[in-house]
Amino acid sequence: MVAATSLKSWREVTLNCPVCRSFELGSTDLESNLTSFRCPSCRGNWIRGAQYWKWLEEHGPNLPERDDQDSGLSLAEPGTPIDCPECRFRMVKYLVGHGFNFTLDQCDGCKGIWLDRNEWDALKERNLHDDLNAMFTPFWQANAQKEIRRRHLEQIYVSRFGEEDYAEIKRIRAWLDTRTNKEEFLAYLTDQDPFNV
Ligand SMILES: [Zn+2]
Ligand SMILES: [Zn+2]
Repeated sequence: MVAATSLKSWREVTLNCPVCRSFELGSTDLESNLTSFRCPSCRGNWIRGAQYWKWLEEHGPNLPERDDQDSGLSLAEPGTPIDCPECRFRMVKYLVGHGFNFTLDQCDGCKGIWLDRNEWDALKERNLHDDLNAMFTPFWQANAQKEIRRRHLEQIYVSRFGEEDYAEIKRIRAWLDTRTNKEEFLAYLTDQDPFNV
């Protein structure tokens, strides 16, 4: 349920899309009890901070993340800096991580959230749409940074070793990790001549 007073105030304000600027956002039901303001041109969604918190409360316990869903929704390119459509503050970009390349924008002032087209649905497929508040924490951001560094290093290894050899060395490394006498295996491997004792 939405309070009548807040409904009234939504109708009074005109919000312009922070990306397309000249297009006006129109209020729409993102979820049955979550209103967003959508841009008719780029289809991005503006969610007011208080609305999101309210939805989160009503939505019940946090849903466990799903890894198995990827219907290949077309997502926008990582965006340029944008300003809050309500209080004009420059919005802060937050990494989503967990395999996603896009960022979310949050206004430090009014706590409103901007999602580019399909981002809400992509997050929802993985049950990450109820974790936005966690995404805006330093802990989540540090892990997402770590994930980016890891992916970057993987690319370096692949280009250095070649895809096939990299897959093989990764397999061997994982296998070594399961051995209690890993050190002996490594010594055998790196010895110039393991039979010259
Ligand atoms: Zn737009
Ligand atoms: Zn704001």
